[in-house]
Amino acid sequence: MKIAIIGGGIAGLSAAFELEKAAAAGDVEYDLFESSGRLGGVIYSLPAEGCVVEIGPDSFVTEKTATSELCKELGIADQIVGSDDANRRTCILVNNKLVPLPDGLMFLVPTKLMPSITTPLFPLTTKFRMAMEFLFPPRPHVGDESVASLIERHYGKGMVDRLADPLLSGIYGGASNLLSAQSVLPGMVTMEQKYGSLGRGMLAMRSQANKAKKAAAKNPDKPAAPRPAPKPMFSTLRNGMQTLVDAIIQRIDNRRIHLHAKVETMQKSADGWQLTLLENGKQKTTTYDAIILAVPAHAAAAMLEDTDQTLAHELNEIPYSSSATVSMIYSEDEVGKLPEGFGFLVPASEKCSIMACTFVQRKFPARVEKGTAVLRSFIGEARNPDLFNSPDEVIIERVAEDMRNVLGITAKPKQWFVHRWYGGMAQYAVGHKQRIEKIKQLVETLPGLFLAGNAYDGIGVSDCVRLGQQMARTALKSSVATPVSVVSA
Ligand SMILES: Cc1cc2nc3c(=O)[nH]c(=O)nc-3n(C[C@H](O)[C@H](O)[C@H](O)COP(=O)(O)OP(=O)(O)OC[C@H]3O[C@@H](n4cnc5c(N)ncnc54)[C@H](O)[C@@H]3O)c2cc1C
Repeated sequence: MKIAIIGGGIAGLSAAFELEKAAAAGDVEYDLFESSGRLGGVIYSLPAEGCVVEIGPDSFVTEKTATSELCKELGIADQIVGSDDANRRTCILVNNKLVPLPDGLMFLVPTKLMPSITTPLFPLTTKFRMAMEFLFPPRPHVGDESVASLIERHYGKGMVDRLADPLLSGIYGGASNLLSAQSVLPGMVTMEQKYGSLGRGMLAMRSQANKAKKAAAKNPDKPAAPRPAPKPMFSTLRNGMQTLVDAIIQRIDNRRIHLHAKVETMQKSADGWQLTLLENGKQKTTTYDAIILAVPAHAAAAMLEDTDQTLAHELNEIPYSSSATVSMIYSEDEVGKLPEGFGFLVPASEKCSIMACTFVQRKFPARVEKGTAVLRSFIGEARNPDLFNSPDEVIIERVAEDMRNVLGITAKPKQWFVHRWYGGMAQYAVGHKQRIEKIKQLVETLPGLFLAGNAYDGIGVSDCVRLGQQMARTALKSSVATPVSVVSA
């Protein structure tokens, strides 16, 4: 069986590693086509001033284990480091002052009234709504809505502006009035149906989890195991996320990798799938039994236009956000004392160019040379299109101005990096789940086609690893059984 993987980001590479193992057993031949000159997609780490600068993702969520499992298999698990959660605290910029998130806040849901009422983070009306929210009755699910609409119904606009929007912009690079509650906050949607109040729902969930822990501890059949050390919220690789990409590259046959190879169209034929691509400027046509499309949804749409216009249309409807990462390396003594925590988030209403800033030396101290501070900021195209499209020097000037106004830093950075990710992050817009169901049905009518990447079933690195591996395994199975192509987990 011959399989082509299109796209050399982490989804495509994870698929390639699966196929490489099967190829070693003689079951499959494969090729990976990547349009750019490097592998890794948005994963890109650079060494500078004895520090690791992450141009793309800086970590993965520890709870989602696909990446750490893959690291184990690749023999690099000893390089995994956790976030320094003793320092885990996030501030929000309110009227140009940094306000820590109040105690008891579980993601977007306040579970302790006193800290939420005494914090200057929320306006008075929001505080009143928080107290009343505990009385909300269960509500039947009436279709998808935006995250902003769900949060506003429960806590009012103040909560959307000061918390939901900055938090979700930090994760998705997009606005909360576009994102789907059903896809982005599925737990809260279920909670609302069951409990009505999200506050009561969170408390009930916590109490159930505590009861289950106590019951397990009392079980006479099972001696109480020593309590495992709490896991860090985020994990990463000591020398950068790029280590993961490099480790995969080392394990796959480099004859299988085609860089500067942009796939332009793909067509179903009696022999399988015919790809037309431009490899190092030369046009080529080649045929495979199966294709794993691990590219952004709009790129997949362009390739599938001639095969299935409806599928191409649905894929094209998945929006993407663009953002820039701006990393500035300073001497620590010139930065002065920074506020506690991992960094801060910026609501759109603030007079500030950036959406968020991470103090890398606090989040991942192992990544930063002693005596150095690395401040990594984000600029969103949707929020600040003019600045996003300005020359790097202008971006640096504006970010330095923010650092001066918010953190009092007047020193010039020793070194800086600006990188724009055009359409780097899929946005799970209202109706995403229904769209994915439709895409899944359409893909099932095209045997040998498999979709992977951040557009479908999770945008995090681990989601992309999981889906890439899953699609490779399904593609391999389809060579011995009736082909089935699935999108979701
Ligand atoms: C700035 C930023 C920060 C992030 N931070 C985090 C984080 O901290 N933690 C986390 O878990 N996630 C984070 N994410 C999300 C996560 O990194 C991505 O969702 C994930 O890495 C995407 O992997 P992918 O393989 O699906 O896509 P990509 O990395 O986009 O790879 C797709 C590849 O396909 C190639 N391609 C496109 N068209 C063609 C074509 N026609 N022919 C051949 N090749 C083609 C592209 O060149 C690219 O290399 C972040 C994302 C960004 C942009």
